[in-house]
Amino acid sequence: MYDVVFKGKFLINGNLIEGYIGISDGKIAKFSKAKLKGEEIFRTQTHEVILPGMIDVHVHLRDFNQKHKETIESGTKAALHGGVTTVFDMPNTDPPIINRTTFEEREKLFMKKAFSDYALSFLIADNCDEVQKVDADFYKIFMGASTGGIYSKNFEKDYSCAKAKVSVHAEDYELIQKFPKREPIVEIKAIEKALSVSERLKKPLHICHVSTKEGLRLLLEKYFPWVSFEVTPHHLFLTKDDFVKNQLLKVYPPLRIKEHARFLWENIKKVPIIASDHAPHALEEKENGSAGLPGLETELALLFTAYNRRLISLWQIVEKTSLNPAKAFSLKNKGFGIGKDADLIIVNLKEEWRVKPEEFYTNAKWSPFEGWTLKGKVEQTFLRGMLVMEEDEIIGKPRGERIEKG
Ligand SMILES: [Zn+2]
Repeated sequence: MYDVVFKGKFLINGNLIEGYIGISDGKIAKFSKAKLKGEEIFRTQTHEVILPGMIDVHVHLRDFNQKHKETIESGTKAALHGGVTTVFDMPNTDPPIINRTTFEEREKLFMKKAFSDYALSFLIADNCDEVQKVDADFYKIFMGASTGGIYSKNFEKDYSCAKAKVSVHAEDYELIQKFPKREPIVEIKAIEKALSVSERLKKPLHICHVSTKEGLRLLLEKYFPWVSFEVTPHHLFLTKDDFVKNQLLKVYPPLRIKEHARFLWENIKKVPIIASDHAPHALEEKENGSAGLPGLETELALLFTAYNRRLISLWQIVEKTSLNPAKAFSLKNKGFGIGKDADLIIVNLKEEWRVKPEEFYTNAKWSPFEGWTLKGKVEQTFLRGMLVMEEDEIIGKPRGERIEKG
């Protein structure tokens, strides 16, 4: 007898199976085609599918002195609403997470306020002595300034000092001065540099939000096993044309001309991870030029829409939003398999819905995809076997836990 049993369609190694998932103590205990008995049973409908919750490796939850932009509470509720069960919190907060005190304060806040599970980060910028005092799940380096303004003046030195995987924002500081509109060269040169240092150091590295054709090509050519990278939905679904029409779509790296997005889609099979880079600001701040876009509540639905248009398979979505993030960041308890946390979502692949940001949980209260009709909706979200979101409502109290490292 399992605590919870899910009955319906799910994917194992790329194959759609009709069967049962048995959950014990919040973990996936069994996949079975034959009937399983449970104390509680969730049956899904024919148009629904059971998928792993998304592990989003790039999320800015703000809080601290920027609660008007987002709080850990509002952001992790937004996560569950969008089908994201684990968020990787970014450290360019105000104050930034660059010393032990702020890191510990961040951890305490998450323990109290997080509705989803989470990974904690630490910002490296010439503070190697402080790095030694904390035990972050991952580290972040900005090669050029973004929101928060802190960047690394010596990438190699900062990268050497990290104690776990480094997520890098690859836009080169000097080139940003030369090309303030951050043309592709700014990203390409930074990726080139990060890869050449990584080739020597052979330390875990993750390249954030690859947005250019040449940047992606470089990564596909030099694909070291210790390097992973991500592409964001906004760089897949939006282009510079959209930005010209709507200045609120300002983001770093910027939206590119069509050929880049087309190249990302053409090579989507080889992209290991999709992440939101959820970076909320108040509408007024956006109107005054702040860079960053909210994305937690639209990213999976956009991917389901792409699935419905045959641009991506369901299995590829599972790999890029759950299996690969878990592997790339050595998460012991996450991913979709026996013994892993039962973080599941039930998705109606046929449901069409309109993006209305006023119904979202994020404090951003606007969306780059406002007014779009998306096909595919997360109907229920389960965190470690517990129902935490149903029909757009968050259920229960903050139950988020920190991820375990393998
Ligand atoms: Zn970011």
